[in-house]
Amino acid sequence: FDDINELNVVAIELYGTGRILPLSNGLDDDLFEHYGQITKREVRAVTLSALAPRRGELLWDIGAGSGSIGIEWMLRHPSMRAIAVERNPVRAARACRNAQTCGVPDLKVVEGTAPGVLTDLDDPDAIFIGGGGSENGLLEAAAARLKPGGRLVANAVTLEMETVLLAAHARLGGQFIRLQVSRVEPVGSMQGWKVAMPVTQWIWQK
Ligand code: SAH
Repeated sequence: FDDINELNVVAIELYGTGRILPLSNGLDDDLFEHYGQITKREVRAVTLSALAPRRGELLWDIGAGSGSIGIEWMLRHPSMRAIAVERNPVRAARACRNAQTCGVPDLKVVEGTAPGVLTDLDDPDAIFIGGGGSENGLLEAAAARLKPGGRLVANAVTLEMETVLLAAHARLGGQFIRLQVSRVEPVGSMQGWKVAMPVTQWIWQK
């Protein structure tokens, strides 16, 4: 496709979602089939911004879950490629379905456990770590394979993963931020803020 709008139209016509995909990142969570653990819309938008996609680049989405990050990366431009790495077979299959529905069927889904499964993949221009980051040697293996000038973004919701990211930040520098989103929900007949778990994000450029 020469044009992202053409891609969007094709997505709607081919897959019949009846939804129009906006050009922005941070698509509605509902657009993806997911199991609750999806990177929420607001955090996903900030994450894509940190990944700083450029035309023709390859992303590794490690611990891909529903595949939302890799899918949004590919939606930036038809020249983009992404590999979703997910160890849970049910979730890997779901990421495939989401890629179809969103009109990026070329998302490559690799069912397997990082870091072992990373060996055979092409070197990436950007890496997102959404799961498995506290696994022994994963962060080091990912950073080693990243192309010069590439970006590595890792999100943590657990203290264990946050500790890994704190050490990485101390060792390699980069940016260390925390995001917290609240959404309005009913409280009886009234409304209140439902606070989501805070997300710690480490952003590093090689
Ligand atoms: N960004 C995802 C959410 C990821 S949740 C989304 O938007 O849907 C984290 C995922 O990482 C889980 O699905 C889990 O199965 C996967 N995971 C955890 N450790 C992993 C590892 N070592 N290798 C591959 N996947 C892993």
